[in-house]
Amino acid sequence: MWEERWHPLREEWVIVAAHRQSRPWSGAEVSGRAERPPVFDAACYLCPGNTRVSGRTNDNYAGTFVFDNDHPCVGINAPRELAQPGGIYRNRPATGVARVVCYSPRHDVTLAELDVDGVDALLATWQDQMRELAAHPDVTFVLIFENKGEVVGVSNPHPHCQIYATNFTFKYIETELAAGRRHLAETGRILFQDILAAERQHRRRIIFEHGTAVAFVPYFARYAYETYVAPLRSVPAIADLDAHERRDLAVVLRDTVIRFDNLWKMPFPYVMVLHQAPVQGDTSGFHFHIEFHPPLRRPNLLKYLAGPEIGGGNFLSDTWPDDKAAELRAAGGPHYSSLPS
Ligand SMILES: [Zn+2]
Ligand SMILES: [Zn+2]
Repeated sequence: MWEERWHPLREEWVIVAAHRQSRPWSGAEVSGRAERPPVFDAACYLCPGNTRVSGRTNDNYAGTFVFDNDHPCVGINAPRELAQPGGIYRNRPATGVARVVCYSPRHDVTLAELDVDGVDALLATWQDQMRELAAHPDVTFVLIFENKGEVVGVSNPHPHCQIYATNFTFKYIETELAAGRRHLAETGRILFQDILAAERQHRRRIIFEHGTAVAFVPYFARYAYETYVAPLRSVPAIADLDAHERRDLAVVLRDTVIRFDNLWKMPFPYVMVLHQAPVQGDTSGFHFHIEFHPPLRRPNLLKYLAGPEIGGGNFLSDTWPDDKAAELRAAGGPHYSSLPS
């Protein structure tokens, strides 16, 4: 079976070729069953009280802990005056603030193993960071993301996410913003609300719904277990959620990452990203949501980005989103690590 599915947020086609799962596999295997890390690691630059490479010492923090990245990829000291490259080429100054957010003092407790209060406290920290960074004169956009697992390049197992607050907006957000604005002008409706309506009517890709928040594998998923977690109300950014909505989102976010880990009873790698509107300018038509891009297609089997994706620019998916959502629906309940083995 081959078909193309339109991704309305990214404005691109996703090629679905779902028979490919059964072909013999000769790709790399990823080992998921590593030893559980210790509760505290004296050599970890994120654990409480430890000294980082910059010479600064972490607080003896009890909840979340935020600090400026010692090796920032964007910085406020970036050059403002650039030499012009000439000809067809263009450049512009890239400035911003890069931060790290530790989820808790525990070196070993992942997002999926925090309780609801812990996840809610993390969301509140993100809200505080958004408000603070939005007031920064250099910042027009804030990207909050977590890379989880060695296969997505995480060098330190201490659960944490990163914040890039920049003077530019990342490309996927610009595309979503333009698509949402055009949809609003053409139909008078919010694009993401139309996606939510389609998913809630179809039901079979909904993973979990709680109060004012929902998780689903979208019709146009590019990765096998691609999952969106979103509030039902359209707001430009997480800071715009009230305490009740934030709590519901915490419940659904926690539930989602528990299902990921329960799926194969192993820590499930992913890239998690908050898609928020820029903190300046027209944000009409935008709907804040969290996207998960998990790189595994099967236990220990990595989805390679190759000819179609890297060479051609369109994702080739070999799974049906309805099937993957059903797997995640069946993986609910307590985190597997909390159950007697
Ligand atoms: Zn640590
Ligand atoms: Zn998005």
